[in-house]
Amino acid sequence: MKKSIWQAMSSIAISLIISLVSVSPSFSGERLLDNHKEVKNIIFMVPDGMGLADVTAARIYKNGIDGAPLYFETLEEIGYQRTYSADNTITDSAAAGSAWACGEKFDNGEICYHSDGRPYNPSILELAKSRGRSTGLVATSTITHATPAVFGAHVKSRGCENEIACQYIEMTRPDVVLGGGVSKFNSTKPDKCGTAGDFISEALNEGYKVVYTKEEMESAVSSDTTKLLGLFNSGGMTPEYLRTPGLTEPRLPEMAKAALNILERNKQGFFVMIEGSQIDWGNHANNLQYQIGETLAFDEAVKVVLDWINARQERKEHTLLIVVPDHETGGFAINGNEDVPALGQFVPGWTTSGHTGTDTVIWSQGPGSHTLGRALDNTNLYWIMRESLKDKE
Ligand SMILES: [Zn+2]
Repeated sequence: MKKSIWQAMSSIAISLIISLVSVSPSFSGERLLDNHKEVKNIIFMVPDGMGLADVTAARIYKNGIDGAPLYFETLEEIGYQRTYSADNTITDSAAAGSAWACGEKFDNGEICYHSDGRPYNPSILELAKSRGRSTGLVATSTITHATPAVFGAHVKSRGCENEIACQYIEMTRPDVVLGGGVSKFNSTKPDKCGTAGDFISEALNEGYKVVYTKEEMESAVSSDTTKLLGLFNSGGMTPEYLRTPGLTEPRLPEMAKAALNILERNKQGFFVMIEGSQIDWGNHANNLQYQIGETLAFDEAVKVVLDWINARQERKEHTLLIVVPDHETGGFAINGNEDVPALGQFVPGWTTSGHTGTDTVIWSQGPGSHTLGRALDNTNLYWIMRESLKDKE
């Protein structure tokens, strides 16, 4: 049946509208970031798997029921985000992170890569680098784990951790890479992508300083290193509640400080992703001590970042700080009995040992953060950060 002129016209109109919207779905950052303050630094912090009940638990444990807020609770803007992925109400960290890093929905397990061959956007880390900024990845998991990986690699599966290590060193080259996972950078057994190899030697050839202990990391920072690869455990780093005196691994707040000290040397600014990876692992294990230990270490890392920002007016004016969990894990709840007085005490409740589909809270401050104090989708954060990286007139 020949299409009527109107049908033809309307389909042209519709495709025109779709093309406008799909460039930056439902957000034109230009309109939102109307404060003309240049965003030089983006500090993106991820308390992986942390729900709002986790915040309540950690605060009660540290400061008491009526005590001071945690540091990330002091940020000016509060919003929340949807977390579903392209193929599941319940996301994993790969799809959730890829939504932030590349601005679209991906299937669970994908790392900023469409297995069906569709093109993907450059990640926010790659965009920052292309604009002369330095870049960094910090985590307490292997540094090739899903959340850091989405910012520095494009692979069909989060299981390709050797390939992710390879892409860090050969392709995206983040200036600072700190976390666990020595075994992923020096492997003989191919991963799911068929990749294996010694990427530590390659990193040295690329001019990275490679360190394996807290002491080595801090001495590298005090020298004029600008490219640092720190691998502090063969796998994920030691959880806070299992740390013992004399452990050579740095803690998350110490790695955050080291990263800032190196990245600030680039006067054009930087993008850094700092993850408290193991809040998620504590919740998968339905282990409250593990959860609270990781949440408080993450909060200390936020304190390090806030102290760094507040040390100079220029940093306050030009640093966008975002704190956002990728999903909630464990269905954790603060339970008790309203008929039995027990102030400051609670009974931990869990609905699952997996992830949930509940929205997560976004805490933020700095230029452009007013766009984040609302109900959003996780993909929106990419477009807001991407817009903020654009040069101001
Ligand atoms: Zn998880």
